[in-house]
Amino acid sequence: MIRLHTRKMGDEWPYDQAPFAKDAGALHALYDKARAVLMGGSATARRVFELVESSSIVIDMIVSRGKSGGYFLPADPSYGFDFHGSSGLIVWYPEASFEFYVEGPQPTHINPETGSKWCLMAASSDLVLAHELGHVVQYMTDFGSNAARFHAEYKANLLLIENDNVRRHERPVAQEMGNFMTRRDYRTSKDSEWSGKLIRI
Ligand SMILES: [Zn+2]
Repeated sequence: MIRLHTRKMGDEWPYDQAPFAKDAGALHALYDKARAVLMGGSATARRVFELVESSSIVIDMIVSRGKSGGYFLPADPSYGFDFHGSSGLIVWYPEASFEFYVEGPQPTHINPETGSKWCLMAASSDLVLAHELGHVVQYMTDFGSNAARFHAEYKANLLLIENDNVRRHERPVAQEMGNFMTRRDYRTSKDSEWSGKLIRI
């Protein structure tokens, strides 16, 4: 199941002490809208929402403003804060854009090592939400909701887990939605080491 919260997230607060957002209603509405859009347009997204919502494991969904994109944290004690009985949390910023490079029709950058050409595009924050819920599905199905195992495996093989999530969830959702940007590889994020090698054409 998903417990929906709206909070002001930021480095200045530990997760479990972040103050509640003043405009909780507006943030709830953004979540409801994204959920409806995704479930209406993508069979994969519908399956992901239904799996997480019907599960007995509890996921805290924190909807907030600012920052970029979102993330999923399993409830591993090594993070050092109280998960309040949840099995993990998603922090999602519905109004923030998240940029990655795609092999678009009008490339602006080239990878001098491979000759491949890329352009920077902003992904829909709805796609970010689908991506983070995809991690919850991995957590539930591949790791038996074992937070320590997921956390350890993520630290050891980040790209393996991320690209599996892109392949099984993010990309099918983007393709089914039709008008969403999609990426082949997790490393194509704007702030990644990989993108640091690109040069402008
Ligand atoms: Zn991810």
